[in-house]
Amino acid sequence: MTLVSHGPGRTRSTAELRALAEQAAVDLADASADDVAAWAARTFPGSLAVACSMAGDTVLPHLVARHAPGVDVLFLETGYHFPETLGTRDALASAIDARIIDVLPERTVAEQDAEHGPRLHDRNPTLCCQLRKVDPINAELAGYEAWVTGIRREDNALRAQAGVVEWDAVHAMVKVNPLAAWTFDDLLDYAGAHQVPINLLLSEGYPSIGCAPCTRRVEPGEDPRAGRWAGLAKTECGLHR
Ligand code: SF4
Repeated sequence: MTLVSHGPGRTRSTAELRALAEQAAVDLADASADDVAAWAARTFPGSLAVACSMAGDTVLPHLVARHAPGVDVLFLETGYHFPETLGTRDALASAIDARIIDVLPERTVAEQDAEHGPRLHDRNPTLCCQLRKVDPINAELAGYEAWVTGIRREDNALRAQAGVVEWDAVHAMVKVNPLAAWTFDDLLDYAGAHQVPINLLLSEGYPSIGCAPCTRRVEPGEDPRAGRWAGLAKTECGLHR
């Protein structure tokens, strides 16, 4: 079941959250993904959100929901997803104990086309991502104390130093990256072991999956994220800074 929501709200101060993040970054630096997820569930009951793109990261909500049943899972419903991605969202909703929330942009694709002209993603993908991903997730995250992401160090150079727990200064909240040390094969192994639905495109040459207009198939030997915004300098949608 998918819902539109705004988080439950925060009770701790920004200073308290920052201190928690900094201490946990030290304490959990070498902890397993399971232990990091357990800590997040224990520390932020009712104020924890899991971000999931329904691509290679479906194991993340599964992992967290084992420790935090009913946890909120935020899916950025940009209006541009592959059918396989929406199918993965629906399959995951049936497979785990979590509340999957469609985080929607302020404008539909048709309304955005009317205001900015069609195919803004071709002409100004930074603005398109801002309107359809960054602004909506920023508004949603303001209602939580911590969010869990599927960032992995092997994703790209920007993520190579990611810790398992970090202070997210942009959102003034705790950021938890339990899968930071995982490889792509680790994801597949976990999904297989726990029968987690995964996006069918992963096995069809799409190791990294975003919106359909900005994602292409990757050739053998290419960088896994080479298919995202191919031909442009852009490598991130702006959610992780
Ligand atoms: S990935 Fe492409 S279509 Fe999706 S929000 Fe960003 S620019 Fe727009």
